[in-house]
Amino acid sequence: MSDEILTVHVLRAGLAVCGLEGVPALWPDGHRWTAPDVLEDATCRSCLDQLSKEKVFKKPAVPVPQPDLQTESSPDDETKDDPRGSKTDIKLVRSQQEIVARIEYIEGRSIDWAAFEREGLVTHLEFNHAKPYLHDEVTEDNWKPDDQDLYYKMCDYMAFAWEKANGAVEGDGGLSAGRSLSHYSCWLWLAGNEELAESIREYEFYGKPHLRTICEFLGLDADQWDDGERKNG
Ligand SMILES: [Zn+2]
Repeated sequence: MSDEILTVHVLRAGLAVCGLEGVPALWPDGHRWTAPDVLEDATCRSCLDQLSKEKVFKKPAVPVPQPDLQTESSPDDETKDDPRGSKTDIKLVRSQQEIVARIEYIEGRSIDWAAFEREGLVTHLEFNHAKPYLHDEVTEDNWKPDDQDLYYKMCDYMAFAWEKANGAVEGDGGLSAGRSLSHYSCWLWLAGNEELAESIREYEFYGKPHLRTICEFLGLDADQWDDGERKNG
């Protein structure tokens, strides 16, 4: 499918860092680019590995966590209602060791969706476990594991995920849809639902059918967000 974004490369001097041939206009379908200062959007492991080798960035897929982890999903959240659905028994059930093993499993597969998932997993580790995945300048003093309630987070992100899926247009919406689903793969696995976490990697219609399934799991009413459109580009 021409509208599906498979890989986001890092562009430097007009070319992909990984050596993908040609300028972006000549790239095959499904390839996009991001600037070196917007590395969090990059999904090409080869580009990221190359930058890593050059010692420009250590482990670029795992940025230093920002004090406010909610900026992406909550532009104006001071006064909003609690987004949680009815299934409040959903919570983080994985041990530190299980999370480390999951990161190694994901890295072993070395495919493009891995970066967002790995980042999400690392944020839940205590410093001694997280250290191998962090920039050198991160210390025990400035590392704070993400201790936000997992169920709250999954519910809170849903409005944003639907906004991106509904607003998706060819050439820019696919990346956001893929990113939303990568986040949910990470969170659903942390919540113990490995089956659902694995089942949402392949998607169509900008992930909307999967978002409905996740809403059901979370006890949220998807109809409040779903615009009913089902197209791929
Ligand atoms: Zn690349």
